[in-house]
Amino acid sequence: MSSHESSPAGRIFNVQRHSTEDGPGIRTTVFLKGCPMRCPWCHNPEGMDSRFELAWYKPRCIGAKACIEVCPRGALTLTPEGLEIDRTACNVCPLCERACPAGALEVTGRLATVAELVERIVRDRVFYETSGGGVTLSGGEPAMQPEFVIALMRSLRSEAIHVALDTCGGVAWARLKPIVELADLVLYDLKTLNDVQHREYTGSSLSQVLDNACAVARLGKPMWIRTPIIPGYTDDEENVRTIARFITEALPTTERYELLAFNNTCGGKYLRLGRSFALADEPLVSEQRMEALTAAARDEGVDCVCWSGMAAPQGRGASRHQVRQNANSGSVATPGSL
Ligand code: SF4
Ligand code: SF4
Repeated sequence: MSSHESSPAGRIFNVQRHSTEDGPGIRTTVFLKGCPMRCPWCHNPEGMDSRFELAWYKPRCIGAKACIEVCPRGALTLTPEGLEIDRTACNVCPLCERACPAGALEVTGRLATVAELVERIVRDRVFYETSGGGVTLSGGEPAMQPEFVIALMRSLRSEAIHVALDTCGGVAWARLKPIVELADLVLYDLKTLNDVQHREYTGSSLSQVLDNACAVARLGKPMWIRTPIIPGYTDDEENVRTIARFITEALPTTERYELLAFNNTCGGKYLRLGRSFALADEPLVSEQRMEALTAAARDEGVDCVCWSGMAAPQGRGASRHQVRQNANSGSVATPGSL
C-alpha cells in the first residue's frame, strides 16, 4: 500500500488548473477549506469555514419548490425576495441540490483523496515542466488540514512536482513547520504590521504571523511575501513601508514582494452563501496608487517588489475589460487573486 492510500480525505472547494497567479509558471491550485482568519476582503469566503456549505444561485432559481419539498429539516422557505436557508437547521445533506431542476443549489466543497488529486494533477505535467510551474496549495489555510496536506505534498514530491504553500501564517508553528519543510516555495501573506489593526481585521494575532514568517526564513525556504492592498485597510503607504522594512530586516529568503490590488468581483460568492460583504461597492485602487506603493517598498530596499491585480487607470473606476498586463510583474492580472 502506498503512503497516500492510507491518508485521510481532504476538504477542498476548488481545483484550478492553468493558474498563473499563485507562484511561478503554470500551476494547478488546490483550494482547501478552513481558515483561522476572517478578513473582510477575503476573495474566497467559501474557504473560511471548514464545513461544507449550501450556496444558492439566485439567477438560476425558477421557484420550482422541489428543494423545499425534499428537505427533511424544513430549512428552506421561499419568500418574495427568494429562497431563505436556515443554516442552523441545514446539515448539507444534500437532497435539495439533487432535487433542484435548475441547478440553483450547490454544496460548496467536497472530500477529495490524495490519490484522486495526484492523478488529476500529473495529467498537466507537461505544462509545469515547460513553464517552470507546479502545484500550489491554497485556501482557506492549508495548515488547517495538516495530515492531508502533508500526505498530498509527499505524493507530489515523489512525482517531482514543484509544490508551493500559500499560507496566512496564523497557525501554531508546530503545525505549520512540517508543511513548510515539504514546500519548495512559501507564499506568505503579510497584511498589516499594526497589531491592533491586524487583530481587528483578521481576528488573529500578528505576533504569531511574524514569528512564523521568521521561522520560515530560518528554514531557508524561498518566500513570496504578498500584501493585499485593500482601500481603507492596508493601502496606506506607511503600512507598505513597514512591511518592506520587515522583509529587508527579517526575511532574507524573500524572492518577491507582491502587492495585490483589491477588486470586488467575489461579491457574488458572499451573496450565494447568505453573507454580507463589507467591500461590495469599493472601487478599484488606481494604477497610480499601486505604482506609488510599489515605489515606496522599493525605496525601503525591496528591489523584488511588484504589483498585480485589477487597477483603475488614471485613478478612475475600471471595468473588467480594463484589466491590463502589469509590466512590473509580467503576470496577467485576473480577479480572484487575494
Ligand atoms: S487569511 Fe486569506 S483565506 Fe483566510 S480569511 Fe483572510 S483572505 Fe481569506
Ligand atoms: S442541504 Fe439538505 S438540509 Fe440543507 S436545505 Fe438542502 S435538503 Fe435541507
